[in-house]
Amino acid sequence: MSVTVILPEVSTCEATACTYNANHRCHAPAITIGDAVLPMCDTFMPDSLHVAPKPVAGVGACKVLSCVHNRDRACHAASIDVAMKGAQPDCTTYQKRSK
Ligand code: SF4
Repeated sequence: MSVTVILPEVSTCEATACTYNANHRCHAPAITIGDAVLPMCDTFMPDSLHVAPKPVAGVGACKVLSCVHNRDRACHAASIDVAMKGAQPDCTTYQKRSK
């Protein structure tokens, strides 16, 4: 069985230590953003072994309900970028929702 869904693309990712990163692009099938509070990449997995480049990842789920792009725990941005914030990769497309 295969499933086709349209997800926001992960355009770039600076987490080059991640097993899913090749040439600043993410090649996980899909990623999850957030720990319910912070917009970090929850799929980040540091490893010296890197996956073979495949189609770029989509955002499968987002747990950060405070983001303007989050509807029903899914990301509705056109695409996202991920950059390092200290030792943690963060979604830089995150925008805090005004109340
Ligand atoms: S940190 Fe997240 S977005 Fe970046 S390559 Fe790893 S899984 Fe993909």
